Amino acid sequence: MDKWQEILAASVCNPADLPDCLQPDPDAAATAATWPMRINRYYLGLIRQHGDPIWHQAVPTGAETRDKTCMVDPLGEENLSPVPGLVWKYPDRALLLVNHACAMYCRFCTRKRKTGRNGLKIDSGGIERCFAFLRHTPEIREVLVSGGDPLLLDDSYLDWILAGIKAIASVEVIRVGTRIPCTLPQRITPKLAAILKKYHPLFINTHFNHPRELTPEATLACGLLVDAGIPVGCQTVLLKGINDNADTMAALMRGLLKMRIRPYYIFQADMSHGTDHLRTPIRRGLEIMRRLNGHLSGMAVPAFAVDLPGGGGKVRLTPDTPLTDGREHVFTGFSGRQYTYIDPE
Ligand SMILES: *Cc1c(COP(=O)(O)O)cnc(C)c1O
Ligand code: SF4
Repeated sequence: MDKWQEILAASVCNPADLPDCLQPDPDAAATAATWPMRINRYYLGLIRQHGDPIWHQAVPTGAETRDKTCMVDPLGEENLSPVPGLVWKYPDRALLLVNHACAMYCRFCTRKRKTGRNGLKIDSGGIERCFAFLRHTPEIREVLVSGGDPLLLDDSYLDWILAGIKAIASVEVIRVGTRIPCTLPQRITPKLAAILKKYHPLFINTHFNHPRELTPEATLACGLLVDAGIPVGCQTVLLKGINDNADTMAALMRGLLKMRIRPYYIFQADMSHGTDHLRTPIRRGLEIMRRLNGHLSGMAVPAFAVDLPGGGGKVRLTPDTPLTDGREHVFTGFSGRQYTYIDPE
């Protein structure tokens, strides 16, 4: 076993197995039965105390089961799926889901309906059917490989997937979405970087949410990727009690830039069922952007975006985007249709 596989194998998957000082509420066990818990030993080591920003991202709570507002499939992906495993929302790019497992299960995940579910398996036959669709749909120029976490797959299988995409003549760019540089940086080995760099132009968008995740291990992992010629971006999710203030966000964005990671998006948290307690009102994101613009290097300022519920796509919001009073906000998607995002209770 590689070192990362040992760290992963020793994950805590049961709330009762957490150290006493990190114990969640009594309802956490029922929550974890619905939405699995996995905290690998590396990410567990980042938690300093009960209720800190790392703890909140990883440890289940009974609040998840009391969500009355959010949706099982917040981005309407099941209706935008021409073949199982492929989500085709924008004309020129498609999302290929290759894995349902992750190195850590984020409590705010937008695909909680899928991630970590036993019994949900994506096999090579399913991926080949997606390749066939892509071959017959040449207007798709970019394939986003995501999940779950694609980099949790083993080297040879990942190599096979990327080679299959690369062999489709109409695909110009490959993008990999992965939280592994943050949650299990030991997985980024020189061998993995050598595999990825065979498939240029290949971009990675990773996902850090708090400056305390910017460890020496994560810095090393991202350095390996960037040195392999892979542009690395970051998609941060705005989360209540975790990073919903301007100072924390500024420190995160500055720290990412020092690691040669380009902040790409801050996302308004999706309305994913079981995550209402971690969302912020849209207004909060605009306030934070107002405090970042101009105060940070332009290279460290990402776009703030909301991915519209129901499949409208991402819309970028700026501090002067007009908002109505109340919890319901209507935005126009790229197709011209209108979609409503509802602030948390
Ligand atoms: C987010 C997303 C993309 C990529 O959008 P960008 O704005 O290009 O980053 C593509 N397809 C789907 C289905 C998505 O959810
Ligand atoms: S790593 Fe991404 S896909 Fe996996 S649980 Fe976290 S947010 Fe969801």
